[in-house]
Amino acid sequence: MIKRYVMYLIRWQLSTPILAVVLILLTDMNKWVATIIANLIGGLIFFWVDKFIFRTLSDSPMWEIRDNVTCADCGNHGRGYRITEWLDYNRKNDKNPQFRCETCKDIKMLEVDKKIKHRKK
Ligand SMILES: [Zn+2]
Repeated sequence: MIKRYVMYLIRWQLSTPILAVVLILLTDMNKWVATIIANLIGGLIFFWVDKFIFRTLSDSPMWEIRDNVTCADCGNHGRGYRITEWLDYNRKNDKNPQFRCETCKDIKMLEVDKKIKHRKK
């Protein structure tokens, strides 16, 4: 939490030069209009920065479960599972999601766990 707070305070300082430069460039303009434009530009940039700062990473795997799929490993047909998100492992927008059967999903989970383990804290 404190790390995120410090990042947020630094991010506020980063908006200072943007506001200053825009206000200097628009010095002949009405100060209210210039400030609105400066804040608009800041908002367009810092929306993405803030989104990154405040993203939350899930500690436990998030699963997507779908019926009538073919297991990507053994080819069995039926209910399938896949991990969509787990810490910085993110397959939420996977264009070709791979589902696995009850047995194969556990093997895949261990594989993903090993992959992300060294990145955990
Ligand atoms: Zn399988």
